[in-house]
Amino acid sequence: MAHVYGRPKTHLSRCRFLLAAILVLSVVPAWAADQPAGVLCKGTRFETSYYVVESGKPGPLVMVTGGVHGDEPAGMRAAEQIRHWPIRKGRLIVLPRANVPGLAAKSRNIPDEPKESANLNRDFPCKGGPDKPLNALAEAMWQLVLSRKPDWLVDLHEGFDFHKINKKSTGAGLIRTRHKDVLAVSERMLEAVNKTIDEADHELVPMINPAVGSLARAAWEVNGIRAMIQETCLKEPLARRVRQHRIMVHCLLKDLEMVDCDRDLITPPDRQPGELRVAVYCGGGVGSTGPVRLEGLLQADRGVLARLVSPEAIRAGVLRQFDAVVFPGGTGKGTAEALGEGGREAVERFVRGGGGYLGICAGAYLATSGYEWGLKIIDAKTVDSRHWKRGKGTVKIELTPAGREILGRREGELPIYYANGPLLGPGGRDDLQDYTVLSYFRQEMRENDAPEGVMLNTPAMIAATYQKGRVALFSPHPEKTAGLEPFVARVIRWTAGRAPQDAGIAPATRRAR
Ligand SMILES: [Zn+2]
Repeated sequence: MAHVYGRPKTHLSRCRFLLAAILVLSVVPAWAADQPAGVLCKGTRFETSYYVVESGKPGPLVMVTGGVHGDEPAGMRAAEQIRHWPIRKGRLIVLPRANVPGLAAKSRNIPDEPKESANLNRDFPCKGGPDKPLNALAEAMWQLVLSRKPDWLVDLHEGFDFHKINKKSTGAGLIRTRHKDVLAVSERMLEAVNKTIDEADHELVPMINPAVGSLARAAWEVNGIRAMIQETCLKEPLARRVRQHRIMVHCLLKDLEMVDCDRDLITPPDRQPGELRVAVYCGGGVGSTGPVRLEGLLQADRGVLARLVSPEAIRAGVLRQFDAVVFPGGTGKGTAEALGEGGREAVERFVRGGGGYLGICAGAYLATSGYEWGLKIIDAKTVDSRHWKRGKGTVKIELTPAGREILGRREGELPIYYANGPLLGPGGRDDLQDYTVLSYFRQEMRENDAPEGVMLNTPAMIAATYQKGRVALFSPHPEKTAGLEPFVARVIRWTAGRAPQDAGIAPATRRAR
């Protein structure tokens, strides 16, 4: 937006104010990490917060930036998680969402910006590139770097392909500047992340010299900052990319003796009163669109903290940080395979120990007892699964009294989006508590020769206790139905043991499994 930058006087005074604000706010204790230390480009479309985590002890200053390119969403999520890590020495500065307009538009370039300066990662001053920052956002970020003088700068990005497979992409790479410390630690960062990658072609590779005009290049050239760009590959599921970023930054901070927390620490250390922490599965069998939709919907609910979790993180025990987990639509078997035996056991253990489970469509299939790969955490089997492909579209459901209590009172029939969700029936196991029906299908889908009358009046939503935990399954999709989205947060509150307390659903049987 040229006209913002075209007001040098206002801009300079804003910068001076910014510098003053930085000085005043430079001693923010770790417990105050949830308050931004400062705001860049306040009052403009570029407005974005940055955070400073202080250890109170001398040590390196590390700056982490995410969201420079708006169509690379893993970096901002990783940075948002990293900014809550407790720091043992030195100081961490995190700018999670550098390019707010780009992130909102999911566009690589800054929307409505002249072509020459639209790519924020080409807007910084360096040899053969711009001689000054090319717009107000780059200027504010550059001033932050100049005023703070970090020892290290890690910029989080993503590329469209795996570099090992396609040399045209920087995806799955670590782009280093030539500082000897960067070259040394990058070996360990790559080793740490590549240990978590099964396919050799998907491993990250070392690269050298960030692009002319990039923040990392400018920081290195102009200030000798140990700078690098982490590039994950957009072909990987989102939560895995976030984890890869986290693992590399964690390796660096560990090397600098700045952290000793778990690299899968993805929630803030302090809980807000009454806060509900929800993990949303994002990985094989599911893709990224559904989880991101659920994450957004839950984050919009006051008092809910939602995080995408990968199967790798679930196997590593990440669910301990949460009150409930949601498994979205996709394929039940695909999700089970991606979780692996270790992941399935971790989910079962989580619910047994008091965690909540919401399965939507494929996530409902996953929880049932009839499949070899099922979690078997509810006494339900799928009915007529031979005709599972019975169609997608709107059908009518009706809530039962228990459903009305848990989901919010809605009388009569409700239209809801359905997409090949399971038809549920009793599982016939006597070691599990019988489920309670929250709603019934009052209309059916009968594509691909599905017989008439089978779906009609079967349960659309069910709930039951499982040991200390609670399980709810939705065959259709309230999260994709205008007006019914609040069902998701409401049922999760119930699964997590919040209101309403029982809704007439019996406590778990005490018989051993
Ligand atoms: Zn990028």
